Amino acid sequence: MTKFVFVTGGVVSSIGKGIVAASLGRLLKSRNYSVSILKLDPYINVDPGTMSPFQHGEVFVTQDGAETDLDLGHYERFTDTSMSRLNSVTTGSIYQAVINRERRGDYNGGTVQVIPHITNEIKERIDRVAKDTNPDVVITEIGGTVGDIESLPFLEAIRQFRKDVGRQNVLYMHVTLVPWIASAGEMKTKPTQHSVKELRSIGIQPDILICRCDRPLPTGLKHKLSEFCDVPVACVIPAIDAKSIYEVPLILEREGLAQQTLELLNMEQHQPDLTQWQTLVERLYSPKHPIEIAIVGKYVQLSDAYLSVVEALRHAAIAMSGDLRLRWVNSEKLEVDGAENHLAGVDGVIVPGGFGVRGVDGKIEAIKYARIHQIPFLGLCLGMQCSVIEWARNIAAFTDAHSSEFEPHTENPVINLLPEQQDVVDLGGTMRLGLYPCRVLPNTLAFSLYQDEVIYERHRHRYEFNNAYRNLFLESGYVISGTSPDGRLVEMIELPKHPFFLACQFHPEFQSRPSAPHPLFKGFIEAAIAHSQSY
Ligand code: GLN
Repeated sequence: MTKFVFVTGGVVSSIGKGIVAASLGRLLKSRNYSVSILKLDPYINVDPGTMSPFQHGEVFVTQDGAETDLDLGHYERFTDTSMSRLNSVTTGSIYQAVINRERRGDYNGGTVQVIPHITNEIKERIDRVAKDTNPDVVITEIGGTVGDIESLPFLEAIRQFRKDVGRQNVLYMHVTLVPWIASAGEMKTKPTQHSVKELRSIGIQPDILICRCDRPLPTGLKHKLSEFCDVPVACVIPAIDAKSIYEVPLILEREGLAQQTLELLNMEQHQPDLTQWQTLVERLYSPKHPIEIAIVGKYVQLSDAYLSVVEALRHAAIAMSGDLRLRWVNSEKLEVDGAENHLAGVDGVIVPGGFGVRGVDGKIEAIKYARIHQIPFLGLCLGMQCSVIEWARNIAAFTDAHSSEFEPHTENPVINLLPEQQDVVDLGGTMRLGLYPCRVLPNTLAFSLYQDEVIYERHRHRYEFNNAYRNLFLESGYVISGTSPDGRLVEMIELPKHPFFLACQFHPEFQSRPSAPHPLFKGFIEAAIAHSQSY
């Protein structure tokens, strides 16, 4: 029988529910329990695919091609398990399913209502995750903060869920903030008390409280919270701020989170094996080689927009003992100030994915700078497309070369629409999405990194390298090191006579894991370390 843990949040948003859910997943996995983690997002978009990264941060792409919340990336990285489209649910997707059913006449003339139709659909989605992979535990994170109007149907659904599957199979975990109030010189429990009161008014009594705090939670306050919120003292779990998110599982382990969870769910206590995770955190905290990597993009004010890229860099840095520093470079500013002003002194340049023409010229400038100055360069998706445009303009002398995404009437569309995208009109979920195979050419940098002829990577794009220019590029010394198995689509390019210049049409960052850094990022960081030591 699958057990269910529901994680809600109170007091403020951005409290770290996702990391708590992911950390609990890690702790259960380290005890040989299988887990799946599901995110319920209260917004009305069907998925975050069409949302601006400024609104939502990164769009995480699952193997099966769902565009999901960035928390799914944390779930995958912490539990080392791939999630699927079932693991991401939004209010929009729930209503879409219910309304489609209503239009088909499936409700036999009945009035369609939030309770029971919407709540049943929500419960059905949670159930589906349990049935799909049959994990020991399904952890469900409810987006938003208790008290939001929007999340009410989700909370009502999870309230009913306990009755449906049996009390002993469900646990409610509430993540709150216990702030330090400087003027009083004290930590305050009142916001948590209020938040629990709010939760109770919906009919949910939390079993475990996770208290985010910036300093140790005094025993007296733990007892106070226990008393007022009716949670045993051992289940008032402080989650003190960590230097890195990867330390959180270890902190929560010390506070007994997994032990209490298993006890409350009537599951057998197993010894955890966290040695690998511990080593990872130790390595993270004792780096040896300082390196500075520039991330050149349009959304740099919000680092969450490139979350998986940053995490993939970190994983590779941990493996190579790199002391990673990031230089966020706004490509629009670079356009104005010139590359030298923004990139001098860096050991590596990354141009990540993106959409829209704004800042593209700055990205192209950055790539030219990295190419000419022999600085390690990794291009991801749009980053590859920009590197193709850079080569076309500066080496192949097509000065007007562009992507037809940005300049529909260019004489030289070196990047153009995938043929299967020609007639697509809907924007949501219609890109080339998810896992596709790629053939890696022998005797290339890519091959030396992957050590494999066929690899699988996740995609999210509409445009691709224009094959009309393939021979011209090859003749001018460009190396196409990865293609679709039929040879049609260019998936990876690289430049010889450069320490590390590689770009890919896919998003390798989505598959990097803390203990299994992605080969492209590993190679890139290794080259950056070599670069930093060369002067
Ligand atoms: N905008 C480009 C495309 O659609 C690149 C997408 C991306 O970087 N993910 O092809």
